Amino acid sequence: MNLLSIKNLKKYFPIKNSKLMVKALDGITLDVPENTTVGIVGESGCGKTTLGRCILRLTDVTDGIITFKDQEIAHLKLKDFRKYRKSIQVVFQNPHNALNPRMKIKKILQEPFLIWNNGDNLDIDLKIKSLLKRVHLDSTILDRYPHQLSGGQLQRIAIALSIANEPPLIVLDEPTSSLDVENTADLIDLFIDIKSRIGNSYIFISHDLHAVQDISDTVVVMYLGRIVEKGSKEDIFNTPKHPYTKALLASMLNLEDEGKTKIPEITGEIPSPINLPEGCYFHSRCPQVMNICQKSYPQLVYSGSDHYVYCHLYG
Ligand code: SF4
Repeated sequence: MNLLSIKNLKKYFPIKNSKLMVKALDGITLDVPENTTVGIVGESGCGKTTLGRCILRLTDVTDGIITFKDQEIAHLKLKDFRKYRKSIQVVFQNPHNALNPRMKIKKILQEPFLIWNNGDNLDIDLKIKSLLKRVHLDSTILDRYPHQLSGGQLQRIAIALSIANEPPLIVLDEPTSSLDVENTADLIDLFIDIKSRIGNSYIFISHDLHAVQDISDTVVVMYLGRIVEKGSKEDIFNTPKHPYTKALLASMLNLEDEGKTKIPEITGEIPSPINLPEGCYFHSRCPQVMNICQKSYPQLVYSGSDHYVYCHLYG
């Protein structure tokens, strides 16, 4: 069953003193089933972070529908959306911005319970201890301030805050990008462990393809505000179809296979989202470009029951 359904979502940013728009999202349709991790990948500017912000209502949508558990939320007044904040949580890239530097960790962790009236003080203390256990932190940190913790510890506090009320959906927006390899691996294990305990879904936005491969059930590849390919983790990593997906994976494989013959990586400038090209948006960089690619945008083509691609090679 779908927890979240996005239909033809658009987010355009107007440019001051101009009629032009930046098309950050240009018709995203995507389902997030219950108890599923959907990884979202693509270069900077592909719209993946804007997509997360639209779901969280941190920015207004231009058009389209977002349905969470049968309730349309994209056009709700913010005061009416507030009750969904308990159910749709987020972990950002930089935990420093998410935690009040003047508050001790104990006070920070009390907040989600106090905001949602979830228990008396004694009860809250027990819940905080249990939360710390879940994110593998010792209760000695409760008396410390955020600046006294490491980056990895801070991100665990941010994760503890996001899971305090066991939300069905958590948006993870580049949650590991400021961490080293060891901390990243630990956090990915932690996310997987949390999901197995509370049965939530994640939208995992990341440029780290290794992390996406480790955590995702489904992977969505975005380019210039549109989905170009979607499939199971196995579909995308074992049998990618779209030349852009293949190029992204090539950069990952080249890093792994130092010294071996390099697979050609993506080259050329990404076109401007203000002035999108005719035809396939990827044609100016695509090694397999054909005449038709410069004239018409490709239709959706299914390559398996839940694996689809937008590319003329398969039309
Ligand atoms: Fe390349 Fe054409 Fe496919 Fe676009 S439609 S990815 S230009 S082959």
